[in-house]
Amino acid sequence: MTDAQSRVAIVTGAARGIGAATAIRLAADGYAVAVVDLEEAAGKSTVEAIEAAGGRALAVGADVSDADQVAAAVDRIAAELGPPLVLVNNAGVLRDNMLFKMSDSDWDIVMNVHLKGAFLMSRAAQKHMIDAKWGRIINLSSTSALGNRGQANYSTAKAGLQGFTKTLAIELGKFGVTANAVAPGFIQTEMTKATADRLGVGFEDFIQFNASQIPVARVGQPEDIAHLVSFFASEGAGFVSGQVVYAAGGPRN
Ligand code: NAP
Repeated sequence: MTDAQSRVAIVTGAARGIGAATAIRLAADGYAVAVVDLEEAAGKSTVEAIEAAGGRALAVGADVSDADQVAAAVDRIAAELGPPLVLVNNAGVLRDNMLFKMSDSDWDIVMNVHLKGAFLMSRAAQKHMIDAKWGRIINLSSTSALGNRGQANYSTAKAGLQGFTKTLAIELGKFGVTANAVAPGFIQTEMTKATADRLGVGFEDFIQFNASQIPVARVGQPEDIAHLVSFFASEGAGFVSGQVVYAAGGPRN
């Protein structure tokens, strides 16, 4: 298969932020895009943006950490849009706290959404990719995978996603399926706004401070990450697999 027009992509957590920008970008690249988020209604604005630009999209409500909801969502996407051959595991949550204050549920929810969610979605989608002998799985890691104060749960999950990515690359390569990870630094979204709120810092001040620490002297935008995902999803990226690319405006966060 070489025609993006006939392909379907799934982006999880696509109601806003990096997921929304990625869904819009993949639609512009020619994919029909399933906009998966916790609530179907939350995906409406992303779907509208895609349709307004002449693309095809479907909003699907599913909690990626729930096996039954994931199976139902992937079945519905395959039936209504076509077999999904690109999967972007982007849905994410933060439950930041210093280790001594981190609750069991802070730990569990972050593992469930990032790690179990990526596992369940990939397991459900891979059969369509194997059938087509073509597929692309792109996982959202983070510079936090290298360690970040207050994020024992999140940095563990984001590092775990790198091992998951490399293993999928090894297992699925012979079926024409690649798996890669994008590891963003500071991207301006609701997620980083929530961090500013938690630290009691104004978002604009937080952005300016972070930009001053980044070699390219600005924070990232969701479209910066969507661009890299678009590369990994592309036909020409078929010999690039099991890689982690940090997109952080410099060599480290
Ligand atoms: P965001 O603005 O908070 O968006 C995340 C989206 O995921 C939200 O729409 C959220 O829905 C959805 N979501 C949460 N739990 C879900 C679940 N169980 N099932 C389905 N959808 C769920 O986050 P973002 O900044 O765009 O980040 C996107 C990804 O990039 C995440 O994996 C994040 O860890 C990673 N990342 C972000 C940054 C950054 O600086 N922003 C840096 C590195 C990595 P609700 O609104 O209903 O919760």
